[in-house]
Amino acid sequence: MVTPAHLAAAAPTVYCNPNRPTTPADALAALAAGNDLWATGQQEHPGEDSTRRSCVDQYGQTPFAAILSCSDSRVPPELIFDQGLGDLFVVRVAGNSDTLVGVQSLAYGVDHLGALALLVLGHQKCGAVNEAVKSYPRPAADFVRIIYPAVRKARIIVRQSGGDPNNPDLVLPVAINQHALLTAVRLGSRQPFRSLVKQGALAIAAGVYSLDNQTVTMLTS
Ligand SMILES: [Zn+2]
Repeated sequence: MVTPAHLAAAAPTVYCNPNRPTTPADALAALAAGNDLWATGQQEHPGEDSTRRSCVDQYGQTPFAAILSCSDSRVPPELIFDQGLGDLFVVRVAGNSDTLVGVQSLAYGVDHLGALALLVLGHQKCGAVNEAVKSYPRPAADFVRIIYPAVRKARIIVRQSGGDPNNPDLVLPVAINQHALLTAVRLGSRQPFRSLVKQGALAIAAGVYSLDNQTVTMLTS
């Protein structure tokens, strides 16, 4: 088990998740592998038994990934990545946005608990992003307005590709992807995430979950 430098002084004595990835790349690969099992109906439901329950109680948590995802009840990270107790440090908020308290929670997950990957996970048919697409650019609730930069960018992308930026059916899927990407970029510009990435102790990624086929696709800007 390799312990990141920033955690060496406080390394846990016991890892309750014995197959815990040890590098940022392996952490992302483990999420992808778990999603493959979920999408194909072959979930293994790891880390739910009495051994894991008592272990995390006695020795604490060593999550390998921190996830910022939507509150949507159709997208529970532990299920769609087929992970167990102590594996994922999750912040959920409608629209998977980087709210102040949420960011501070994610910072705890990576800086204190040693999560190796930070994934911003958007999803198909997101109600929060849909609300932002419909409301833009008028005044709206905070959780809607925080998505406006992604809507603005999505409208530009749709227009540049020859589509109608006032067609919500065209803008919504682009805005969902852009919101996950922009949120990941913003997180990567902040501490402690920026330094951890620079040290090679953390990978930051953006992904989108399909309700149609239950797969997570990683996004690139
Ligand atoms: Zn949503």
